[in-house]
Amino acid sequence: MIFISHANPEDNVFTRWLALQLGRCGYENKPESEGVRPAMQEGEPCRKCSTPVIKRMGRRKPSRDYYYEYHLFCPNCQTTYHIEEANRFVEQPRSLF
Ligand SMILES: [Zn+2]
Repeated sequence: MIFISHANPEDNVFTRWLALQLGRCGYENKPESEGVRPAMQEGEPCRKCSTPVIKRMGRRKPSRDYYYEYHLFCPNCQTTYHIEEANRFVEQPRSLF
């Protein structure tokens, strides 16, 4: 577990950049209040109807700085499951000043 803290408002950009780099390295960067959910895998039964879920490629949304590379989809009841493992950050040019 790594805590990132900073004192000056000017450090905000750097802190966000650091969090982004840590996220790429496999560290999870999310609020502590979020509960831990076991990651679902392709072929596991749907939590609503027990049909094996399939993997579908996600769409990247240009307005966000992250997207889901893929998600799990139930072909029977059409439920979509987003899983954290598929969460990808998008490289966007940022102005530092
Ligand atoms: Zn289902």
